[in-house]
Amino acid sequence: MAKRDYYDVLGAKRSATSAELKKAFRALALEVHPDKNPGDKAAEERFKEINEAYAVLSDPDKRSAYDRIGHAAFGAPSPGGTHASSAGGHGGPLSEVIEGLWGDLFGKRPKKTAGRDLRYTLEVEFKEAALGTSKQIRFPSRRDCSSCGGTGARSNSGLSPCVSCAGRGEVRVQQGVFTLGKTCPTCEGSGKIVTDPCGACKGAGLIQFEREFTVKIPPGTEDGSVRLVAKEGEPGRHGGPPGDLHVIVRVAPHPLLERQGIHLICEVPISFPQAALGAQVDVPTLEGKVKMRIPSGTQSGRMFRLRGKGIPKGDAGSRGDQHVRVIVETPTNLTPRARRLLEELAEEAGDAVAQVSHPRKKNFLDKVKELFG
Ligand SMILES: [Zn+2]
Ligand SMILES: [Zn+2]
Repeated sequence: MAKRDYYDVLGAKRSATSAELKKAFRALALEVHPDKNPGDKAAEERFKEINEAYAVLSDPDKRSAYDRIGHAAFGAPSPGGTHASSAGGHGGPLSEVIEGLWGDLFGKRPKKTAGRDLRYTLEVEFKEAALGTSKQIRFPSRRDCSSCGGTGARSNSGLSPCVSCAGRGEVRVQQGVFTLGKTCPTCEGSGKIVTDPCGACKGAGLIQFEREFTVKIPPGTEDGSVRLVAKEGEPGRHGGPPGDLHVIVRVAPHPLLERQGIHLICEVPISFPQAALGAQVDVPTLEGKVKMRIPSGTQSGRMFRLRGKGIPKGDAGSRGDQHVRVIVETPTNLTPRARRLLEELAEEAGDAVAQVSHPRKKNFLDKVKELFG
């Protein structure tokens, strides 16, 4: 079928100004827009035809070339039929060939759009965050549809130039005295709209899938920190860069350990006799229980240090410490026997402060004596 004259297609005179061409194009495009004529193949063909005509005539260079030698100026890509062989000839993936086609037609490639960033909240155990780990995460993402190569159309002929932006992928927005270019909201910058959608992706060009990814959690990762994994977000469109993956790390609190920079702190309650006589107690650490010796006469609140039991620092293999605060607990709910023993102890300690040493008490009593005689 021979191509119709572009001026005839738009119903415009050869002398028409660009404003007149635009007006004619708009009126026709609205009339035969596929959205308004669902399932009407003739309207669809007509829509493509007027888009193609306007794309050429709205560009001064192309218009003058067309005026001189007609359709021969553009090698006349014809809709339907021959695309399969021309795609083979180009040798590239379908989407590239189509982009090339529109590129030829409009002298402008579709606007590159960056992929969306993705956010994922990852909960890790205290120990995992402290010592470092790798976690496999799964999250919904999107990728180019393999059925249509990301175009969203069943075939090349299922794409038409976007009417809103005349295939440029960009619309002009008046802002005060300036005119700014903005990504076309209708076609999201591709310059094309899908008239015959791909069955697999329903025309979106992207399909949902569950993504699997392994996140490295370095030692000493703190609660609320964000791991930015560059380029692991959703893919870009039309050659745009992919988005990033942001992993927000939530660290579960430890029931017994607390972080303080590269050090850990824990409190260990001991009984009064243990404090007085000395004892060996179990202390929780990142790697399990360790035995710690408490010397006789240990006061409540005394700090002990377990060297190298804290958070790894740097890559030299060195680690912070764990500080252990000993809390001496006063016994309650005494059995009759315990009460008797304590009464005996009290008697023994009694006024004989010098024999059973209570350094704080002695100090306190000395001060009271000093003050009140
Ligand atoms: Zn598809
Ligand atoms: Zn558009």
